[in-house]
Amino acid sequence: MRVPGPKGGIRGAGRRDGGALGAYYSYRMRKYVIMGVQGSGKGTQSAMLASDLDLVHIAVGDIFRWNVQNHTKLGAQVRRTMAAGELVSDDLAEGVVKDRLTQHDWNYGFIIDGFPRNERQAEFFLESYDIDGIIHLMLPDSEVRRRVMARRLCDGCGMDYNLIDSSPREEGRCDVCGGKLVQREDDTEEALAVRLSEYHDKTNPVLDIFRRKEYVVTIDARPDKIEVQQAIRAALKLPSYQG
Ligand code: AMP
Repeated sequence: MRVPGPKGGIRGAGRRDGGALGAYYSYRMRKYVIMGVQGSGKGTQSAMLASDLDLVHIAVGDIFRWNVQNHTKLGAQVRRTMAAGELVSDDLAEGVVKDRLTQHDWNYGFIIDGFPRNERQAEFFLESYDIDGIIHLMLPDSEVRRRVMARRLCDGCGMDYNLIDSSPREEGRCDVCGGKLVQREDDTEEALAVRLSEYHDKTNPVLDIFRRKEYVVTIDARPDKIEVQQAIRAALKLPSYQG
């Protein structure tokens, strides 16, 4: 796998310890992007990867949702667009990613979920950051609806549930904080149709850009979450998941 250096330059495969960048890009530094249609398990798989590899999980949709929930200026700017299932402006999405990455709390690397979502964002990303791989979770649209409609979110701590295979112990209540489980505002039939068409029209071409650079590992997202996680790790040559 070829690795682009800062500002998009290409570094040779495996050259993570050499050159002037050696100290900065320590051996264990890992930077991934996870992509996949709604309900393909990006959040779950990112959290599983992040836990023992000490990666920071950056979910752009979660950042926007936090802003909506907390009535910030950014939240007010994106709320209606998000509820309709449309993509928010590239400037706002790029700003969120830039701000989050400049916090530099990712000593061992990061996994970005939900960005880039179109060609402009992909170009911005490639020019600004180097990455070690793109994880593409593949799920047929026929399975998406079933999963998305079963998704619940804690309105207190943001924990994700799925009534198909990760139900809470008490119906409607978060196991972690006791908060109320709600459906996401954009997990409706109408918004889902828009989001799927946004994904196929705008995000699929991003995968083509990354495929040309040989970054992409494509993983079948239909098996259970542990099996999917092990497949991701095998494809990226990472230590296997211990649970
Ligand atoms: P997600 O949680 O990834 O499904 O994202 C929820 C919503 O946040 C999307 O439907 C968009 O409205 C917005 N959003 C998240 N990431 C981006 C992005 N990279 N570009 C534009 N809009 C985004």
